[in-house]
Amino acid sequence: MSKKILITGGAGFIGSHVVRLFVTKYPDYQIVNLDKLTYAGNLANLTDIEDSPNYSFVKGDITDAAFLDQFFAQQQFDGVIHLAAESHVDRSITDPMAFVMTNVVGTVNLLNAAKNSWKADFADKRFYHVSTDEVYGSLHNPEDFFVETTPYDPQSPYSASKAASDHFVRAYGNTYKLPIVLSNCSNNYGPNHFPEKLIPLMIHNIQTNKPLPVYGKGENVRDWLFVIDHARAIDTIYHHGKNGETYNIGGFNEWKNIDLVHLLCSIMDRKLGRPEGTSAQLITYVTDRAGHDLRYAIDARKLMNELGWQPSLQFEEGLEKTVDWFLSNQEWLENVTSGSYQKYYDSMYANR
Ligand code: NAD
Repeated sequence: MSKKILITGGAGFIGSHVVRLFVTKYPDYQIVNLDKLTYAGNLANLTDIEDSPNYSFVKGDITDAAFLDQFFAQQQFDGVIHLAAESHVDRSITDPMAFVMTNVVGTVNLLNAAKNSWKADFADKRFYHVSTDEVYGSLHNPEDFFVETTPYDPQSPYSASKAASDHFVRAYGNTYKLPIVLSNCSNNYGPNHFPEKLIPLMIHNIQTNKPLPVYGKGENVRDWLFVIDHARAIDTIYHHGKNGETYNIGGFNEWKNIDLVHLLCSIMDRKLGRPEGTSAQLITYVTDRAGHDLRYAIDARKLMNELGWQPSLQFEEGLEKTVDWFLSNQEWLENVTSGSYQKYYDSMYANR
């Protein structure tokens, strides 16, 4: 059966991988990518599939409720995969309201537009909300993992806005019986990652011999997943997840930030033909981020056991692929690191 699916935020890092997977794997589906093209949205992420007959792009803002209502009425979508968001924690600390508007108000606008256009005929419809493990707060006991029933305890304006949006999605499922499904994923890395995030920032700075800013003592632990494995999990959950359920996504792959930076330095030394230890000399410890969560670690056994998803790559392999991608896509990187991102980067790190 052919389907028309709206993917929001499809020009961003994860969204572009989800769009590519759906456009190429499901030629019978019509995939519509709705994106505002903020600093983080980049259509250059999708040049390989932009001419596909089952793909179209619409520039639009999910904070505009009137636009969304009209858009949904015209398009008659069968499903929504919602990734559009303000996604960078540091930016949420300097401008929380942008996160409230897009992540909370924008999500409620989308829920309303879907509800209004589906008119309670929910057969074969699905609203899939993509979220983060940061809503659970921080783990302090090394034996603990986030499970789907872990109470929410968001610590940053970003995670608070994502937590609020998750609650609204579940509330629309309970109150209006909207056929919703959610996932909360650990940190992603891979091709097209915006270079304000840890891994691409380090790759870029090592390459250009700039300091490698590490928050605090680098003790914070993050659980990393290759972005294409996240896209595969979204495909699995969209097609086989149960209505009303939440699935945690992660690869049981925890790394202290400082260990990860050392691993990257060593891969980069090898790739750039520099003596081992050269890049590590660039490591610079900077004042810790306010409210910085110590450890995130996801228990993804529900997704693995009930829906049969598994990550496809080991971390070292994924990191090598990521470094190779950045080294062979210099033009992409230069375009992204110029302009507004550069000004933001300067203001964040200039005085540290
Ligand atoms: P991103 O910042 O790379 O992309 C977000 C996209 O949303 C951009 O293309 C941007 O232009 C678009 N957008 C922003 N505001 C919009 C608006 N008002 N209207 C329409 N489009 C708008 O983010 P990402 O890292 O790809 O994350 C995508 C989703 O996955 C987010 O919901 C995020 O919370 C979630 N997530 C991210 C990670 C991660 O490690 N990056 C992990 C788990 C979950």
